[in-house]
Amino acid sequence: MRIVVLTGGIGGARFLLGVRAYARQVGAEVTAVVNVGDDLRLHGLRVCPDLDSVMYTLGGGADPERGWGRVGESWTVKDELAAYGAEPSWFGLGDKDLATHLVRTTMLDAGYPLHQVTEALATRWQPGVRLLPATNDRLETHAILSADDGGQRAIHFQEWWVRHRAQVPTHRFVFVGADSAKPAPGVTEAITEADVVLVAPSNPVVSITPILAVPGLREAVASGPAPVVGVSPIIGGAPVRGMADRCLEVIGVECSAAGVGRLYGGRSAGGLLDGWLVAEEDAQTEVPQVSVRAAPLRMTDEAATTAMVRAAVEMA
Ligand code: GDP
Ligand code: CA
Repeated sequence: MRIVVLTGGIGGARFLLGVRAYARQVGAEVTAVVNVGDDLRLHGLRVCPDLDSVMYTLGGGADPERGWGRVGESWTVKDELAAYGAEPSWFGLGDKDLATHLVRTTMLDAGYPLHQVTEALATRWQPGVRLLPATNDRLETHAILSADDGGQRAIHFQEWWVRHRAQVPTHRFVFVGADSAKPAPGVTEAITEADVVLVAPSNPVVSITPILAVPGLREAVASGPAPVVGVSPIIGGAPVRGMADRCLEVIGVECSAAGVGRLYGGRSAGGLLDGWLVAEEDAQTEVPQVSVRAAPLRMTDEAATTAMVRAAVEMA
């Protein structure tokens, strides 16, 4: 069996721990198609937060408390940059983490595409699933705010999320570069050859939507032969962690399992999903043209997450 997972960073990485465990039980192959909309250049280095969250988590090197970055991290370089007054100072890059960005940037500058760089980095981490960026091309999520002159201005998603903690009046999100981006090599093939496509319980607005914004990618999922089952990141009307509620508010979607289910939509109605797995407290959820099932959706440990994945695959 071949499983494809559309995923963001921290929530998706935890989900993938369960997907990998399930795949080992049944002998399946897993490809994760990872959001790159959060990527940015900092101090000359290319940082890919979601790819790294997934790689470190599956490779056993993530900090479980912070959720992002490396366990046992030190911050010497960050302190030294601060001593120079180097901006931006609101984004923390740990010393161990920096090595990843140095290797990645060196390879990118030498001409390797991001999917090959990701594969090279993964030879160290052995994540046990194939990691593919949704695209090798620039695709950056920006938040559109009101400017002082009465017009509008765009800031990078990371500045909106990390620096402003999503607490600024926001009109909408745009995915800069999405028009001309192409799916990374292997992405369309993986989706077309999959037996099941899972949408991780990732942030629907800024993790999953930017993946689907790559021209051809949404179509590949929506018209592919594999059933598509999504897992709700919203339980009882609130995100389990993070600020997905703020993101949903910006795009005018109710923060509920039903709201996100409708945002993705039913495949037979021009959307994405055949099935929508919601938490037990959301069992009454209805999404037009989509089968809804309820299961425990809290990823408290690998066994619980594996059971969640099993429920999603059985639904498919
Ligand atoms: P990010 O890119 O690091 O923000 O991570 P993701 O977009 O992949 O995941 C963030 C989402 O994961 C949030 O909206 C959370 O609600 C969701 N999430 C985190 N933990 C859990 C959990 O235990 N169960 C479910 N169902 N969702 C979770
Ligand atoms: Ca992210």
